[in-house]
Amino acid sequence: MSLFRTWRRKRVLRRARIDDTLWRSVLAGLPFLAGLDEAELARLEELVLIFLHEKEMHGAGGFHLTDEIRLAIAVQAVLPVLNLGLDLYEGWVGIVVYPGEFRVRRQELDEDGILHEWEDELSGEAWPGGPVLLSWEDVALGNTALEEGGEPGYNVVIHEFAHKIDMLTGEADGYPKPHRDMDAGAWARALESAYARFDGMVERGVETLLDPYAAEHPAEFFAVASEAFFTDPHALKEEFPGLYEQLTRFYRQDPAARLPPPEGSRPGPRR
Ligand SMILES: [Zn+2]
Repeated sequence: MSLFRTWRRKRVLRRARIDDTLWRSVLAGLPFLAGLDEAELARLEELVLIFLHEKEMHGAGGFHLTDEIRLAIAVQAVLPVLNLGLDLYEGWVGIVVYPGEFRVRRQELDEDGILHEWEDELSGEAWPGGPVLLSWEDVALGNTALEEGGEPGYNVVIHEFAHKIDMLTGEADGYPKPHRDMDAGAWARALESAYARFDGMVERGVETLLDPYAAEHPAEFFAVASEAFFTDPHALKEEFPGLYEQLTRFYRQDPAARLPPPEGSRPGPRR
């Protein structure tokens, strides 16, 4: 990291503050943060301050961003890099928040040279080198209690930021570059074999913890597995132990060790 950036970030931390009541209310609304200790919460707060300073968040489609919404998004975006640092989010600045699902125009040229155009309705998207787009309705849904219609393991912010981490080496391919202290072969094998097993389960119609949508592409599998890793870690550890273990090395966190196992029986398929 450059000296200038280090200096600038220190200056941000000296000058910026998060209102204590607001900070506590945002944390209370995100139950998967419950196991973080004092030092981790202090680091989370520092990263959030720098993140809010370095990224630009805008409302779109008439959506008005409040301080609470900005903070809630920043906290969830920063959680995956708590022990990795914000350099993983380098090379882009924009975060665009829509009130609900939004439409994106798509174009694709097929092998015969015919241009196909269509519209996708999305809850979130990450563009390589560009912004992250989010639907606030879906962000909020991920943090809604089960009895109020929430879905365990669903977190659109972590999903899109996992794509961003994956995109550090170009297009998202589902194989983010392992850290130097990791066994690169074990990392690739864990991702590959979990994806292959998951894909087979979806094809056979076997119920699985992760959204069947994740079978579309290894990049989607990595993003969906990352959502579960942080917000429903016990379930992920049980269903994909090898993948869970490698993700603890990749994210340098062990959410299942810090969070209590969920009480009672699990609901059916998630989304
Ligand atoms: Zn995705």
